[in-house]
Amino acid sequence: MKLFKCQACGQLLYFENTRCERCGHRLGYLPKTFALTAMELEGDAWRALASPREPYRFCANAELDACNWLVPAASEERYCCACRHNRTIPALDQEQNLRAWRKLELAKHRLFYGLLRFRLPLANRIDDPEHGLAFDFLAAPPAGAAAKVVTGHHNGLITIAADEADDASRERARQEMGETYRTPLGHFRHEIGHYFWTRLIADKGRLDAFRACFGDERMDYAQALESYYAKGPPADWQNRFVSTYASAHPWEDFAETWAHYLHVVDTLETAGAFGLRIAPRIDVAESLDAEVDFDPYRAGDIERLVEAWLPLTFAVNSLNRSVGQPDLYPFILSSAAIAKLGFVHDLVHRR
Ligand SMILES: [Zn+2]
Ligand SMILES: [Zn+2]
Repeated sequence: MKLFKCQACGQLLYFENTRCERCGHRLGYLPKTFALTAMELEGDAWRALASPREPYRFCANAELDACNWLVPAASEERYCCACRHNRTIPALDQEQNLRAWRKLELAKHRLFYGLLRFRLPLANRIDDPEHGLAFDFLAAPPAGAAAKVVTGHHNGLITIAADEADDASRERARQEMGETYRTPLGHFRHEIGHYFWTRLIADKGRLDAFRACFGDERMDYAQALESYYAKGPPADWQNRFVSTYASAHPWEDFAETWAHYLHVVDTLETAGAFGLRIAPRIDVAESLDAEVDFDPYRAGDIERLVEAWLPLTFAVNSLNRSVGQPDLYPFILSSAAIAKLGFVHDLVHRR
């Protein structure tokens, strides 16, 4: 992600900030120009210091402290371009639902930052009632109820279990599933991969190219998942897939690869914004020198990204280990996984 600073006082800001810690200005995010901006109230409209000509108002979800994005004051939309896709949110009269939903919204807004940077097509359910992109954030049913909320994608509708915002329950699920990491942002980036599989592959006649890279998705999905949960990944999964779950079915392989691609690009942009340069002060067999002196959202080919990514993950994993945290990126990319990332890269850039 880019770096942001307060236009009023120069303080460095996080994407999620709603108020400048230094000068107290309220902050809003302008999705069109990817700018976080200090805001000043003028009459009953807000003036954005980063874009002072046009008045703005906050997305309706700002009232619930769940969004800091802006909408032009003249627009008829109540919600920002990220919140417009929400179809269901959990009942907010329960404090725990509100807390969970806010946490999920942080991840969702990060997701949208990247999708908008790539200028990916984002029709909502008003633009396209049958296949538009929509989110259901669902709280767990009462204890003893038969149905469970399952995070997943169906025909443009992404369901996110609000439980995924709860650290204890997410960690439990991570261990049960044998995953190396599990985060709300990872869920969003994975599920949106299923959505774009339909939009950019099935709808665009790219199934042959997809099958050549990921295998035949016509194999029985329910059976494939059942077999994966019963037997686990194949012994050589590391040589073929980006993660264990990617081995379950070509659709899951694609969604996992897509999610990793978004992780890689976002993290590289952040590293570049901070001017991080990797130059280990030790003689190693292969050069680990890297610098992100390019825009990863516009990088020409996957090799450019991977050349910077591998040294960077080595460095940040080492930093995490220094404070006793798990690896930031607990994966090893095989050449087959890199080829699949290359497929996603081409898809995003040549759609
Ligand atoms: Zn400030
Ligand atoms: Zn919003």
